[in-house]
Amino acid sequence: MRLLIMGPPGAGKGTQAAFIAEHFSIPAISTGDIFRANVSQGTPLGVEAKKYMDAGEYVPDEVTNRMVRDRIDEPDAERGFLLDGYPRTVAQVEELDGMIAFTGHRLDAVVVLTVDQDEIVQRLLQRAETEGRADDTEEVIRRRQEVYAEQTAPLIDVYRERGILVEVDGLGEVDEVTQRVFAALDTTPES
Ligand code: AMP
Repeated sequence: MRLLIMGPPGAGKGTQAAFIAEHFSIPAISTGDIFRANVSQGTPLGVEAKKYMDAGEYVPDEVTNRMVRDRIDEPDAERGFLLDGYPRTVAQVEELDGMIAFTGHRLDAVVVLTVDQDEIVQRLLQRAETEGRADDTEEVIRRRQEVYAEQTAPLIDVYRERGILVEVDGLGEVDEVTQRVFAALDTTPES
């Protein structure tokens, strides 16, 4: 099973990714989490990524693509994976297509969480308090939303045209959203 989860910043991708990945017994791979781990460990990748993350900009494709390629080459991703936060640009879509085709597999579905802008800002400001993320100030949140609209939202049409897009209302309780995702993927948490 090879899945993507997409949605604007604060749509709840990470939370849902964990449940979906557990259900299908595949790793949830979050590029944001990998970058943050590198930042906190002070690796060269982390030092490079931090400059962009703190400004709400995307880390350059070349750096991000290499990191994802290495991660999905790991043994735990052999049976499949759920990517959270990748691809985010058209160039990354093409790169991922190549990576998956190389292994002789295909992308099964792309889950998109749809949410209201105002709700998102509230969620992100709340998360800034609880998690203390440097990229959760109001100014950076606004920039991240712009970058998403410009560079990532167009990917939704790309996957819709391929017939693998699954759109899910991301507003409501975490449980409700999870149930919607499973229903949309035509399965249930028990199956
Ligand atoms: P996230 O936790 O997914 O919101 O990611 C946090 C930050 O990491 C983003 O705002 C970007 O700076 C960077 N990042 C994560 N994934 C990508 C990606 N696929 N391409 C470029 N930058 C990324």
